[in-house]
Amino acid sequence: MSTSRVAIVTGAARGIGAATAQRLARDGHAVAVLDLDEAACAATVEAITSSGGRALAVGVDVSKADQVEAAVKRVADELGAPTILVNNAGIIRDNLIFKMSEDDWDAVMAVHLRGAFLMTKAAQAYMTQEKWGRIVNLSSSSAQGNRGQANYSAAKAGLQGFSKTLAIELGRFGVTANAVAPGFIQTEMTKATAERMGVSFDDFIAHSASQIPVQRVGQPEDIAATISFLCSEEAGFVSGQVIYVAGGPLD
Ligand code: NAP
Repeated sequence: MSTSRVAIVTGAARGIGAATAQRLARDGHAVAVLDLDEAACAATVEAITSSGGRALAVGVDVSKADQVEAAVKRVADELGAPTILVNNAGIIRDNLIFKMSEDDWDAVMAVHLRGAFLMTKAAQAYMTQEKWGRIVNLSSSSAQGNRGQANYSAAKAGLQGFSKTLAIELGRFGVTANAVAPGFIQTEMTKATAERMGVSFDDFIAHSASQIPVQRVGQPEDIAATISFLCSEEAGFVSGQVIYVAGGPLD
C-alpha cells in the first residue's frame, strides 16, 4: 500500500480532471476536487466518497490569485498539506489567427499558464515543507501546432517549459514536475471542437480514431493512469519530462 497523500486536481468536475481525481482517490489519496463551480464538483466527490475515499469540493477560478490562495489554504486546513498537484483546468477559444481576438488569447493564457503558475506557487510551499511533492501539468499534442489553436498551442508548449523549470528548481526538495500531453481524448472539450467544425461528435471520433496508430480515441482514464504513475512514490526519478499519451508516437 502506497503512502496516502493529499492531492489537488483542478478542473475536476468533469472529463480528464474527474477521472484523475477518482483514480488518485483509488490510489489511496485524499483528493481536493477543484473547479469553477463548487456545486459542479458534487458528482466527482460523490463518486469518490461512495467508494470509501476522502474528497473535498472547492470552487475556484484558477486564474485569480486571491481565490487560489484561499482554495489551497482551505485544502490544507480541511484535508491536510497538499503534496500532489494536477494542473488540469483548461479552456479552448479556437480561431484562426486573423480572427482570434485579444480576449481569446488572454482567456486561454489566463487559465492554462497563469492558473498553473498560481496553483503551483501556492501548493509548492507545502511540498517543499514536507520534502515531497508531485506536480503534473496537462499539456497537449497541440503544443506541436494545431490549426485554429495559436493561443492554446502556445499555452500548452509553455506548460512544457514550466514543468521542466519546476523540475530543476524543486528537485532538491523531493518534488518532481512533469507534463502529460494527451492526444484526442473523448470529453466535453473535444465535443465542443466537433461542434465548432460542424461535424457530429461520432463522425469526429471515427475520423480521429482512423488517424491514430492504436485505432481508437483516448478516454479520460487513459490520462488518469499516466498521471497516477507520475504521482506515485516509485516515480521519484522521473522529472521534467513530457509524456505524450496519444495512441502513437509524438515527441
Ligand atoms: P473539459 O471537459 O472541458 O474540462 C475542463 C474543466 O476545467 C471544466 O470542468 C471547466 O469548468 C474547468 N475550468 C475551466 N476554466 C477553469 C478555471 N478558470 N478555473 C477552474 N476550473 C476551470 O476538458 P478536458 O477535455 O477534460 O481537458 C482537461 C485538460 O486536458 C485541459 O487542460 C485540456 O486542455 C487538456 N487536454 C485535453 C485534450 C482532449 O482531447 N480532451 C487533449 C489534450 C489536452 P467549466 O465547465 O465550468 O468551464
